Amino acid sequence: MGFKIGLDIDGVVADSFPVFIAELNKHYGKNVTEIDDYDIAKVYGVPWDDMDSFFNENMEYLFSTPEPMAGALETIRYFQDKGNEIFFVTARRCGGEERVTLDWFERHGIPRDKAIFAGGASKTFAVRELGINVFVEDFMSNALEIASIGVPVLLLDTPYNQGKTPKGVTRCYNWREIKELIEEIQQRKVSQNY
Ligand SMILES: [Mg+2]
Repeated sequence: MGFKIGLDIDGVVADSFPVFIAELNKHYGKNVTEIDDYDIAKVYGVPWDDMDSFFNENMEYLFSTPEPMAGALETIRYFQDKGNEIFFVTARRCGGEERVTLDWFERHGIPRDKAIFAGGASKTFAVRELGINVFVEDFMSNALEIASIGVPVLLLDTPYNQGKTPKGVTRCYNWREIKELIEEIQQRKVSQNY
């Protein structure tokens, strides 16, 4: 049975945070080693507007430089080869960010059926519209929202998403586990249908 697999980009498929941290440390003259709060402006102790300008001015570098997460590419190809559909739903925005991201997909040979650039909008709308069966995310608020509409979420463990894992959200630690958990969810769904 083909599944619709939803994937976040930053911190899930793209190993973005090491690149962000390196550039932010240079820019702000800091030595942050770990982002333990999803609000990066707070971590660096700068106003949000300032952080926003930094990301706008350096967008091209910040979004084109990260490497794919270990195991992500192989796993995405594995699921696509098995007849599943791959949907990206990201907070990156349409326009320039979309162009840089699509180039990045091409460069790394990351297959996809569709990519939605939601910007600041909630991801739940796209997740529901696309009929996604399972979603992989690293930001706890998004995970909560998506789980609240009944879509199982796999939360890739990071320093900024610690705490109790809510109902419908399963914490996982790498792409090998993501692969196993997606297959488990598929199995469960298949047996429910019989
Ligand atoms: Mg993310």
